[in-house]
Amino acid sequence: MEIACLDLEGVLIPEVWIRFAERTGIDDLRVTTREIPDYDQLMRQRLSILEEHGLGIRDIQEVIDGMDPLPGAAEALDWLRERFQVVILSDTFYEFAEPFMRKLGWPTLLCHRLEIDDRGMIRDYRIRQPDPKRASVKAFHDLRYRIIATGDSYNDTSMLSEADAGILFRPPDNVVEEFPQFPVAREYAELRAEFAKASERDLQA
Ligand SMILES: [Mg+2]
Repeated sequence: MEIACLDLEGVLIPEVWIRFAERTGIDDLRVTTREIPDYDQLMRQRLSILEEHGLGIRDIQEVIDGMDPLPGAAEALDWLRERFQVVILSDTFYEFAEPFMRKLGWPTLLCHRLEIDDRGMIRDYRIRQPDPKRASVKAFHDLRYRIIATGDSYNDTSMLSEADAGILFRPPDNVVEEFPQFPVAREYAELRAEFAKASERDLQA
């Protein structure tokens, strides 16, 4: 039995914070782990910017609701769901992902959760566990599933390494250079072909 483990941002949906910064015009929210590698520090900064602008979870979800999954993502997800059990492993938060999940037909998503107060303001965030993508693949292995995983960035590489087969999707050049062991797909047709190739079953891409 095989599970397809998918990263969310960069694979099925755009980078939420970057698009959110564009939509709101709040440039300070463009900062990513490239500029501030410490994720906790980055998240604290983001939350304080949201508070400064008086943006609560409803405002944020409204903006996110105006965004769409990447073109072709829904079809690619449907193709995978017909052939594999599909689980999305993401470092996002349920509250941010919700509008996208509605558009993608509520696939299974394992990620993190925000702490929201009575006024709808984000007070804190809860990371479910350290290195959650890799831990999830390990847990599925304990359940005797074979894993094919795909992701676009550094935070996916431990998941791809842990999986039986790992595929990079539209990765930046430095990730391709540093992880030459993973095949690279740039279009969804190529991603389907890589999943078909990696599967133990005889699948047509
Ligand atoms: Mg990603």
